[in-house]
Amino acid sequence: MLKDTLCLCMRCREDLGMRTGWITSSPCAAAPPRDTAGSGSTRNKLLLISFDGFRWDYDRDVDTPNLDEMAQDGVKAQYVTPAFLTITSPAHFTLLTGRYIENHGVIHNMWFNTTTQEKKQYYMTQFVDSYWDNGSLPIWITAQRQGLKAGSLHFPGTAAKYKGEIVRVRQVEPRFYDYSNETDWRLNIDKVIGEWFHQQDLDFVSLYFGEPDLAGHKYGPDSPERREMVRQVDRTVGYIRDKIQDHGLTDRLNIIITADHGMTTVLRGGLVEEIVLSKIPGFSFNDIKFHLVDYGPAGMLLPKEGMLEKVYQALKGSHPHLHVYKKEEMPARLHYSNHPRLLPIILFADPGYVINGLIPVQFHKGEHGFDNQVMDMKPFFRAVGPDFHKNMVSTPFETVNVYPLMCHLLGINPEINDGHLDNTKHMLVPRKNMEGNNPEMNIQSQAVVGLSAVTGFLVLVFIVTTSYTLYKRNSAERSYKPEHAAGEEKMKQTSF
Ligand SMILES: [Zn+2]
Repeated sequence: MLKDTLCLCMRCREDLGMRTGWITSSPCAAAPPRDTAGSGSTRNKLLLISFDGFRWDYDRDVDTPNLDEMAQDGVKAQYVTPAFLTITSPAHFTLLTGRYIENHGVIHNMWFNTTTQEKKQYYMTQFVDSYWDNGSLPIWITAQRQGLKAGSLHFPGTAAKYKGEIVRVRQVEPRFYDYSNETDWRLNIDKVIGEWFHQQDLDFVSLYFGEPDLAGHKYGPDSPERREMVRQVDRTVGYIRDKIQDHGLTDRLNIIITADHGMTTVLRGGLVEEIVLSKIPGFSFNDIKFHLVDYGPAGMLLPKEGMLEKVYQALKGSHPHLHVYKKEEMPARLHYSNHPRLLPIILFADPGYVINGLIPVQFHKGEHGFDNQVMDMKPFFRAVGPDFHKNMVSTPFETVNVYPLMCHLLGINPEINDGHLDNTKHMLVPRKNMEGNNPEMNIQSQAVVGLSAVTGFLVLVFIVTTSYTLYKRNSAERSYKPEHAAGEEKMKQTSF
């Protein structure tokens, strides 16, 4: 059991003393020359940034001058709603594909094999191509296929190959990486802005930072340490915008900054009855073939043959803060039911509670993975750049809508997805030439122009014909039948 409970995921590496500061850079693949055929000259570049676990309201108890300035210069959503399960790899892959998690299939941070009992933690799962390449293409690949140059630094999913293709400019973090080091953050930013956007002329880059998730887990979302990390994020946002300015990219680069999920305080200290599956009457791990628990507030169980109903009945209603579902009975709004990788029984806890297996082994002060309706699970969303309105506060939207927004900004045709541009286009300034970048919009525009021309021509023909008829009629009336004018008036009315 211990190997199952010894968590090496990114959430826990700090606790395991993995702050090594050891930095290595993966070589960047050279990108081929850009195919500019069909691309318009008005397309702006796009930088997608994720600060892992940055809750929507983290700027409320900390001074964040750079984020505030960015909001004045651009758009700030009140919050956004992530897909369920609200954990890192699944939620990030939703940003990259616009699909709910049951549709893109990256259902957990961990890869697992229910037959061999093998599990891979967050980092090693990054390298399992088949786990990510599961029917949904991330935006890098779609952009590359349509002639754009894409890059990614540390973003979940970067290491994998999709239909034989990788994001061509990429940097994957080493095995034991310090995700919190501000100096490294700046080196990574210099690389993305200076080398990738400025020198290599990339069109799109996704950039990932592992904080303030780690601080939120370790110290809790209400801790001074989390607030200090938000200050570091804010300084970093200022640094990014300065670098963009230094390289003359401000008017040609849109920036979207968001996160995968939020964070909430874990309730402990004898105040609450913890959820420990082994203590539940009628439940036994002897009835379970494979389980994924001890991972925050959600878990999955594969009962042994013939044991599903027994396990389900034992767990259902066993704890007032534990929700137990057969996977096909999961609430449809969570979109976490319809995928073969999901195990037959899905568990999730109310805010503040985590699900333990044999004994309590989770000691984080903050957690995520809860229902995406819980306000503490909502991330922040900011955007700035030539295509965004200034000083706008947007109503909330789901993060599945970020993907079609990004495709629109890049002028590429999206893959099938669960979002819609209608949910975010209010944030965009109308730009006459933007549609020229988007083949789909281009066809629509051409159709509208064509239809207008035909309509105009027909109206003109109608006016000329009518005028001519009236003129002739009036002339005839004046010349030959002045006495029958009243009768002709009736005829005119009926003939029209
Ligand atoms: Zn995360």
